[in-house]
Amino acid sequence: MRDLLPYLKLYKKHWFGLSLGIWLALATLLASIGLLTLSGWFLSAAAVAGLTIARETFNYMLPGAGVRGAAMARTAGRWGERVVSHDATFKLLTDLRLFFFKRLAPLIPSAKLNIRDADMLNRLVADVDAMDHVYLRLISPIVSGLLAILCLTGVLVWFDTTLGLTLGGALIVILLIWPVIFYRLGANNGEQLTYNKSALRVKALDWLQGYSELTLFGAESRYRQAVLEAQQKLVTNQLHNAKVSGLAQGLLMLANGWLLVCILWLAADGVGGNAPDPLIALMAFAALASVELLMPIAGAFQYLGQTLTSAKRLNEVILSEPDVTFPEQGVEHSQAYSIHIDQASFCYPNSDNFAVKQLCIDLPAGKKLAVLGQTGSGKSTLLQLLVRHWDLTQGNIQIAGADLRQWSEAQLRQAICVVSQKVDVLNGSLRDNLTIASPDAKETELMVALNKVGLDTLLEGQGLDAWLGDGGRQLSGGEKRRIGIARALLHDAPILLLDEPTEGLDKQTEQQIMNILEQHFENKTVLFITHRLVNLHKFDAICLLEQGEIVEYGSHSSLIAQQGRYCELNQTL
Ligand code: ATP
Ligand code: MG
Repeated sequence: MRDLLPYLKLYKKHWFGLSLGIWLALATLLASIGLLTLSGWFLSAAAVAGLTIARETFNYMLPGAGVRGAAMARTAGRWGERVVSHDATFKLLTDLRLFFFKRLAPLIPSAKLNIRDADMLNRLVADVDAMDHVYLRLISPIVSGLLAILCLTGVLVWFDTTLGLTLGGALIVILLIWPVIFYRLGANNGEQLTYNKSALRVKALDWLQGYSELTLFGAESRYRQAVLEAQQKLVTNQLHNAKVSGLAQGLLMLANGWLLVCILWLAADGVGGNAPDPLIALMAFAALASVELLMPIAGAFQYLGQTLTSAKRLNEVILSEPDVTFPEQGVEHSQAYSIHIDQASFCYPNSDNFAVKQLCIDLPAGKKLAVLGQTGSGKSTLLQLLVRHWDLTQGNIQIAGADLRQWSEAQLRQAICVVSQKVDVLNGSLRDNLTIASPDAKETELMVALNKVGLDTLLEGQGLDAWLGDGGRQLSGGEKRRIGIARALLHDAPILLLDEPTEGLDKQTEQQIMNILEQHFENKTVLFITHRLVNLHKFDAICLLEQGEIVEYGSHSSLIAQQGRYCELNQTL
């Protein structure tokens, strides 16, 4: 139960709507019970009066109006309860989602968060949804049920103490026993159901995303079979759930039937010490109607197992500490955006080897450094360290004279612009994909950037409103790369980090892009990662990495003069 605490705290903010929902649920329950009880008594009393002399004096109007009133109150109460509690729970759900998302975002990328995408989606949607079930399925029916039992008992005691207390006592006992029995019957299955639902989503997404690859390698049927097996497990859990629900409701009706027999037997000799009269019908119908307030509780507790498992799964995420935390307050720094890397070493959390070792780089503001190295030599890692995706294991990095760890996130993102090795195109319009780099950019600025990187063909047809990504226009690898460069042109930060920006482009386009970048490089501090030894003489320094270590560092001419690895690479091309 302690697992639910972080989420229950969020309920506080919506206490008014949630408690009004409970009061309206109570009013609806009382109107329902009142309707059945009053009309039962009214019909019997009217029948008895019709057979006796009392037909002259029997007041048909007052109970008739009462029945009408209760019927209208029931309808209005149910409507009001639905409106109020839906409104409150949707607001609560918004808060729950935001609360979870705010905790999740700083954890990416984190080695601790070893969760598959589909599973994360399942946590974000299904598990978060389960948190508002605590109110809808447990708190609201139990509180309104308990209050309704007390009201019903109070009214019946007024007519007959023994009968009132017997019915009230029996209802309370059922209210206490049913949840315990059905929580135990449903807990294990509920836990499995939550995990199996997530497993089915993971398998289904694997199969869908890799469909063409799986078909080409003849593995599609094997993966489809895995999806079907995962589905079968979930269906078995759901079947068990349905059986437990049915059992809970069936047994509750049986208990209610016996309660009715018991009340009839006790009331047969008359209610409140009087001779047998239509009040017996009132008692009997009150017992019959009490099933209304127990029914929502009958199956509710079998879902508690699912809800608790969902809470545990969410807690795995929200209780993880992020690897990198940014200070709220930014730092005072100079306006000369130099980069100073001192004895920097870094080892990925799930690896034993250092990805970069003892790196020392001094890049004054406005200078350009090219970083070369074989695949896996730590080039992209260096870039990730500069943008604080990870923190150094040893050493330190200073930007504009201030320690990187003192920069606030907004400050750092404003100062550094990155074209990463893998450019992500968002599922949105061309405009959306460009304005993430510069939200205030005007339409003409976006078009100019696209023209510069040679993507003006994308403007044909719907222009900037053309849809990219899933369900829209698919882009080639080279086009995606150029979208990344267009974003860098728009962001216009003083420091520019580029990770193989021209990889996958033909020679002519590469040259064209390099010319644009060179113009853009003016007055900026640039770190340029590349495999291609093109135009490197234009850089102020070149750094050659091997297995995370700097093996050569200097200008193009001095490295050629050294006749070392860089010179060798130049000659082999
Ligand atoms: P490429 O030219 O292929 O892009 P690179 O020089 O950019 O290579 P990095 O991506 O920096 O290489 O990787 C350096 C080393 O760190 C590699 O051995 C890689 O396997 C490892 N590595 C990269 N990312 C991770 C990670 N998230 N967890 C563990 N190891 C990683
Ligand atoms: Mg790389």
